[in-house]
Amino acid sequence: MSEMTFQNGYGDREIAVAAANAPLVKTAIAKGLLTEEKPVVGFIDIAGVRQTVASLKQAFPDHFEHHFAVKANGMSSVLKLLRENGMRAETASPGELKQALGAGFTGSEIVFDEPAKTLHAMKEVVAIGATLHVDNFEEMARVKELLADGYDGEVGYRINPQVGSGKIKAMSTAGQHSKFGVPLEDEGNRERIIQDYLANPWMRTVHTHVGSQGCPFELIAEGINKIIALAKEVNERAGEQRIVSVDMGGGLRVNFETEEITPTFADYAEFLKENVPDLFTGEFRVKTEFGRAVMAKNGAILARIEYAKNSGGRHIATSHAGAQIAARTIFMPESWPLRLSAFDADGNHKTSDVIEQDVAGPCCFAGDVIAHQRQLPKLNSGDCVVIHDTGAYYFSNPFFYNSLPASAVYGYEEKDGTLELEEYRAQQTLESMMALIG
Ligand SMILES: *Cc1c(COP(=O)(O)O)cnc(C)c1O
Repeated sequence: MSEMTFQNGYGDREIAVAAANAPLVKTAIAKGLLTEEKPVVGFIDIAGVRQTVASLKQAFPDHFEHHFAVKANGMSSVLKLLRENGMRAETASPGELKQALGAGFTGSEIVFDEPAKTLHAMKEVVAIGATLHVDNFEEMARVKELLADGYDGEVGYRINPQVGSGKIKAMSTAGQHSKFGVPLEDEGNRERIIQDYLANPWMRTVHTHVGSQGCPFELIAEGINKIIALAKEVNERAGEQRIVSVDMGGGLRVNFETEEITPTFADYAEFLKENVPDLFTGEFRVKTEFGRAVMAKNGAILARIEYAKNSGGRHIATSHAGAQIAARTIFMPESWPLRLSAFDADGNHKTSDVIEQDVAGPCCFAGDVIAHQRQLPKLNSGDCVVIHDTGAYYFSNPFFYNSLPASAVYGYEEKDGTLELEEYRAQQTLESMMALIG
C-alpha cells in the first residue's frame, strides 16, 4: 500500500528512473512541446500499454473478457490502442459510452455501469446491445418495462456484497452503506434478486466491483465468491444455466512507490485461482473491468518549474502541474503520492544537490502542492519535473480551477532508435475554457 509508507528518497533507484526518462524529456523539449504557452504536457507509453494488456491477457484463461474502465483514461487514441490489443470497454455515463463507440468498440464489447441511468441512457445502451448492469430495484422496474419484448444482450444486477471497506474509504464500494448496487445482505434482498432473475430470462449476468486502490485481495475475493454463489443458486433454481457470465469488476491496486509493477496481473490471477476457483472452471464467462492497473504506469506528466524560492527555510519550486491535472494527489496527498524526477531545461536528468523541498502547483490555494517535503535534486527556475504513474485518473480528470486549461497529451514509442511522438490531444484552448466556464 502506498499511503504513509511512501519512500521519501532520491537515491540510485530514483536516478536510474530519471535517466531512463531523459530521452523522452529531451525529445519533448527539442520538439518544442514544453513552452511558456504549454508549460505542462502529458505522455502515454504506447509500447508499455501493449505490454500491459499482453500481461493481462496472459495471466487469465481465454474465457475471461477484459473491459477497460473508460473513466481512468477516455482519450480516443488510448481507447483505440486498447481495443486493437483486444480489450473491451466499461462505461458509466452517456459521455463514456460515446467515447467507447467513437473508438470503435461494438455494443457486445461494452458494459454500462452508470449509477444514475436515465431512461434515455438505458435506451441507448439497449439499442446497441451492450451489457446493462442494474444498480437498484427502482431501476429494475424501468428495465422490465424497457425489455418487455426481450433482449439479446446481457442484463444483470450490480451486487453490493457488503464485505466491508478497504484503506481508502472513497475508493471502497462494498461497505454496508455503499451507494453502489443492490445490498445483498439486507433483509429480503437476496430472495428478491433471485426472483427477478427467475422471472426475466434476459437476466444472464451478475456484476460486482468491490473497490479500487486500497482494497485488499481478500476483500475482493470474498465479494466475488458471494456473487458466484448467488449465480449458482439462480441457475439451480431455474433448472438451467440462466446466468452465463460473472463480472468481477476491477480494482487491482498499483504500486506508486517504485518503478516495479506489483502486484502483477499474474499475481492477482494466482490469488484468485486459490481463493475464487469457480472463476477458472469455465462454468461462467468472466468479465473484468480494470482501469488503474492498465494505464497508471503507462503515463507521465512533464511540467516546467517557473520559479524557486525559500519560505521559512524550506525550498519551494513552483511548477505548472497542480490541481488542474492532479486533483487526487493535491486533495488527498496521503492517499495518492506520486514519484517525481528532476531534469534541467535541456532535459538532462539532475542527480546532485538533493534537498528536501516542496514542489508546488500553479493554482491559487495553499494546498496546491504536488510533493510535500520531498527529497529531490534542488529544482531551479527553468528546470522541469516528470510526475510518474499518471496514466490513469489524471488526464481524464481535469479540474478547471483558476481557468487553467487541460494539457496536451502525446503518445510516444521508440521506432528504429528514435522516439516518435504522436499528438493524442491538443492543449485546451482558452476559448474552449471560456465557453466551459460560461
Ligand atoms: C472505477 C471502476 C472500475 C475500475 O477500477 P480500477 O481501480 O481503475 O481498476 C471498474 N468497475 C467499476 C464499476 C468502476 O466504477
